[in-house]
Amino acid sequence: MENKRMVMIPGPTPVVKSIQDQMGREIQAFGDPRFVKDYKELIEGLGRLMNCSGKAFPLAGTGTLAMEMAISNVTKRGDNVLIIRHGYFGDRFNELCTRKGLNVDVLAGEEGKVVPVDEIDRKLSEKHYAAITVTHVDTATGVCAPIAEIGEMMKKHPETIYIVDGVAATGGEFADVDGMNIDILFTASQKAFGVCPGMFILWASQRALDRRKSLGMIPEYFVDFEKWLPTMNDPSKYFATPAINLVWSLLESLHIIEKEGLKERDARHRKNARAMQAALEALGFTVLAEKEHRAVTLSNLLYPEGVNDAQFRTILLEEGIVVAGGIGPYAGRMFRLGHMGNIDVNDEVAVLGVIERTLNRCGYPVEYGSSIRVYLNEMTK
Ligand code: PMP
Repeated sequence: MENKRMVMIPGPTPVVKSIQDQMGREIQAFGDPRFVKDYKELIEGLGRLMNCSGKAFPLAGTGTLAMEMAISNVTKRGDNVLIIRHGYFGDRFNELCTRKGLNVDVLAGEEGKVVPVDEIDRKLSEKHYAAITVTHVDTATGVCAPIAEIGEMMKKHPETIYIVDGVAATGGEFADVDGMNIDILFTASQKAFGVCPGMFILWASQRALDRRKSLGMIPEYFVDFEKWLPTMNDPSKYFATPAINLVWSLLESLHIIEKEGLKERDARHRKNARAMQAALEALGFTVLAEKEHRAVTLSNLLYPEGVNDAQFRTILLEEGIVVAGGIGPYAGRMFRLGHMGNIDVNDEVAVLGVIERTLNRCGYPVEYGSSIRVYLNEMTK
């Protein structure tokens, strides 16, 4: 019998049955009052969930489109933008901004470390920046930025729009738009919300909405706040066709998150992640990110001497688990394990068992049950 194949990459993450069921529902017209009511509940519920007194935009598209929407609505050609780079997705922001004719400065963290907040403060004091971007969790490195601390510092720079890329974090790592002084936060459906790929959610503060208004006409059409605001305020109004079944799926995900609680969800992710990371270190892997700034949504694991990336991931797949390889300088040196969203302790025990079987098949002997013992002990703390 073939093993079940668990998708343990850092997104898409496993989709629980109640969310899958929403994908299989019979279609409704986007003007059907039943759908309009559901979309309204989603928009308002997401705003409440993230404590955003501006507007939540749950729209069709992926995280990259949300990056484009964030930048397009708060900057104009020739503006300065500061990018805090903790890995590959900082580079994506750089390319996006450069193509838009923005002047980009980058502050890059050392390998596995964050850029110190006082360094960001100093840079913002040197010249006027229209916006700053921070990746909450960079999926390429597993480094988690101190977004609350940065938000506190941003109070000294009220002219600069604070953008947080929460694609690999939000719904796992705690975030609070108003409370953390964030102007734009965004995520994608396939990450810690545990929905199929195809939608993003962008939260904009009142300050971000005001900045958009001050820009007049912008070149972008689909991602223009002004085009979407009438629909977000009254979803019976058409601008572009909503991804109906994904809207329902996201609403089910929102209900799951509301029931669990955002803080409780963060605490669960934290506990599970620290236990997973300790267990994997016990097998000889090294977590790239320094301890104080490790993501809770995924782990970026450098191989021990003697384990070959291609062989490891091929056998892991045969044994039933899909993980992601390293990106850029980490290709061949690392694998990336997602542990976010609606996965539970039993899923994680299964994953560790498969990793142990795989390492032994790779000729890297480990004692069966050794990482599971570490994991379960950590979980009882
Ligand atoms: N930002 C981060 C931090 C990400 O992890 C990703 C996707 N892995 C993106 C942006 C881009 O998202 P998408 O692939 O949904 O376009």
